[in-house]
Amino acid sequence: MDLERARDSLIRSLDRDIADKRVIEAMWRVPREVFLSPEQKHLAYDDRPLSIGHGQTISQPYIVALMVQALELRGDEKVLELGTGSGYVAAILAELARKVITVECIPELAQSAELVLDGLGYSNVKVCTARGILGYPEDAPYDAILVSAGAPDVPQVLIEQLVLNGRLVIPVGSRWQQELLKITRVGKGTRVENLGGCYFVPLVGEGAWEE
Ligand code: SAH
Repeated sequence: MDLERARDSLIRSLDRDIADKRVIEAMWRVPREVFLSPEQKHLAYDDRPLSIGHGQTISQPYIVALMVQALELRGDEKVLELGTGSGYVAAILAELARKVITVECIPELAQSAELVLDGLGYSNVKVCTARGILGYPEDAPYDAILVSAGAPDVPQVLIEQLVLNGRLVIPVGSRWQQELLKITRVGKGTRVENLGGCYFVPLVGEGAWEE
């Protein structure tokens, strides 16, 4: 199947499950093959994660759509993504929010993501390399935070980087299986919704598993 037809078929299948049509349009506009190595490009519209080197993966399109939908973006938000990886999720977020700050702990991945995002013309994305701290307190508070790697618990430091009524979407659970949680900061606490099972590469550093 050629890429265009594969893309068409993937977007149509996402459209059946994802209610927020702005998310579907954003997924339609962002070419996933651009974030992949030449050997992987023909697989770009398979609905699964793919290797991007350094033991990391580009997230599965369906899970990306589910996570982004849960952030309830309307266009004027400042969003933080933890785990830039290829930059694919950052591009989708850049389509739907005012400003995206995305943090990656592997410098080579951050560099290549920045190049791809620049090449696509996203001027509202800031790619940062950081290790050892969780999130990016410098630009906090955020209207929404998306964590593209799995954690053993909900990190309180990320809740503290959210505005009131801000949304955090994060995979939480064991190393090999997590639940996708949507956490809304309300009053003095949080409201938690479970969006279902998922599997992500592990978050490293503070708030993560012992290495
Ligand atoms: N959204 C990305 C998914 C990348 S996989 C994409 O679609 O391409 C998760 C990424 O999180 C990996 O690149 C990994 O290096 C990064 N990561 C893990 N722990 C991190 C941390 N504490 N801070 C920043 N990035 C982290």
